[in-house]
Amino acid sequence: MQDVIDAVSNAISLTKRLRNISENIKEAEFRNIVADLSVELAEAKMKLADLISENADLRKQLSEIETAPGIACPSCRKYTYIVVKSEPDKTFGDLGGLRRTYQCSACGLKEEKIET
Ligand SMILES: [Zn+2]
Repeated sequence: MQDVIDAVSNAISLTKRLRNISENIKEAEFRNIVADLSVELAEAKMKLADLISENADLRKQLSEIETAPGIACPSCRKYTYIVVKSEPDKTFGDLGGLRRTYQCSACGLKEEKIET
């Protein structure tokens, strides 16, 4: 990420030098292009700052998911939905069916599922 920031910063410095040189040039089109370039680079720098911020937020969310105690709760979507009980099902136990009880520590949702 630092490489991109350095590249944009270098481009802005070059544009400033070009703008200073262009003040001695009478060609209006050249000066307009340098002005447009300055605006475009400033916008690119702002968008890059937004991307860096978004990237930091996504990294934080990913870290929270990776260190979460459970899976996503079907009700509140927090990663606090865990198995609290697991035993062979009375009907499907002979076929390897387990009756698992899940509970969410955030919203309290509690459900049973038969899993094989
Ligand atoms: Zn929940």
